[in-house]
Amino acid sequence: MSKVIVSSLYDSDVFRMACRQFDKAADAINLPDAIRDRTKYPRRCLAVALPVRRADGSVTVFEGYRVQHNLSTGPSKGGIRFHQDVTIGEVAALAMWMSWKCSLVGLPYGGAKGGVIVDPSRLSESELEHLSRRYMQEMVNFVGPHTDVPAPDVGTNEKIMGWMMDTYSNHVGHVVPGVVTGKPIALGGSQGRREATGAGVAYLVRKYLEDLRIPIGDATVAIQGFGNVGSETAVALANYGAKIIAISDYTGGIFNPRGLDIRKAVTYVRTQKVLHNFDGGEPISNETLLELECTVLVPAALERVITKKNASRLRCRLLAEAANGPTTNEADKILEQRDDLELIPDVLCNSGGVIVSYFEWLQNLSNYYWSIEEVMTKLQATLDKAKDSVDYQKRKFKFSRRLAALTLGIQRVADAKESRGLFP
Ligand code: NAD
Repeated sequence: MSKVIVSSLYDSDVFRMACRQFDKAADAINLPDAIRDRTKYPRRCLAVALPVRRADGSVTVFEGYRVQHNLSTGPSKGGIRFHQDVTIGEVAALAMWMSWKCSLVGLPYGGAKGGVIVDPSRLSESELEHLSRRYMQEMVNFVGPHTDVPAPDVGTNEKIMGWMMDTYSNHVGHVVPGVVTGKPIALGGSQGRREATGAGVAYLVRKYLEDLRIPIGDATVAIQGFGNVGSETAVALANYGAKIIAISDYTGGIFNPRGLDIRKAVTYVRTQKVLHNFDGGEPISNETLLELECTVLVPAALERVITKKNASRLRCRLLAEAANGPTTNEADKILEQRDDLELIPDVLCNSGGVIVSYFEWLQNLSNYYWSIEEVMTKLQATLDKAKDSVDYQKRKFKFSRRLAALTLGIQRVADAKESRGLFP
């Protein structure tokens, strides 16, 4: 019965995709029926209407959500997405993946996610601030440093996290930096948080290339999405000596087989907001970028871009899933058959973001702040441990790397639920 109610609320392609991934992993570890649905479905959600006065005096009401998937091992954790295509089903799927990710890398967090249906590029700075503050005002009783800790995701950034932290702190009457992570450093943000997701992706790419005995200096890289994650991944991989041959954003891509000047691209996007007309190479479409011949392909934009149509046409050696959910289940089946392609699954690949968010939260709770060296050393040690456990699980059970990562994450959440028992 509960199955029908819950799945109809969240029903969407992406939620069904997350559920099918869960079912496959639960079958692989023989998760008992009594614990399955409790582990699978989101615990609770909140939908809110957000009225914002526009620059012309009119009022627009935006719709926002927060889904808390699991709170068994600590507060839930997950970003807030501002995008015109957000649905509650997408937010629920992203919250599920956050649970498996936090559990996989050993953080004492459950998973959550938030979203607002809005194209932030169409709002003025002050409209964006009002929307962000109104969202947090509506969430005041639903989030908190010991309940649920938001962070940036697509369309949100550290400035927005700063407004949200200020709104929450004003409400409770004292400064609460630990209510969100990914804040400006001046407000208790962590050294390295802005770079963390991309730095983690690049670090894991380097490690997997070492396993494949491919010198990073010989590697060519194509990256879809040039926001926080895509651009920081590009910068870190270029610093390691890799050649970035293609980048893109929602306006299209740029390709240069001799290598792109990533610093120039970052500066260009900082001023122009988009890559459109960046003159470092030839224009290409996002679809073509995914099928370029390269050593490493990094989808770092939205979900479900690698499908049954293009999965057999990917020409990379390593697919590093910086985005959440970039590969459909149908595509995944095709990739599993391909011996010529290694995959770093999203829950491992982009976990650097939530790992450093955890470090930020620890620093906020203790009021003791770490150096960038300390943050990066601990990030790399955490990623090394997670990578080793995934690869061990993969070898031991002859799983795909995605199945290995998901089974580890899911098993630990299920174990925690089992140990807590069922209330009442
Ligand atoms: P962002 O908003 O900073 O950047 C998103 C980028 O994707 C932009 O360059 C945008 O133009 C591009 N994009 C949007 N639609 C596109 C399309 N249809 N085709 C091609 N490009 C498109 O977001 P982000 O924080 O970099 O997040 C990117 C991905 O990484 C998301 O899947 C997010 O969930 C995931 N992620 C983010 C973090 C984080 O710390 N920000 C952590 C883990 C995972």
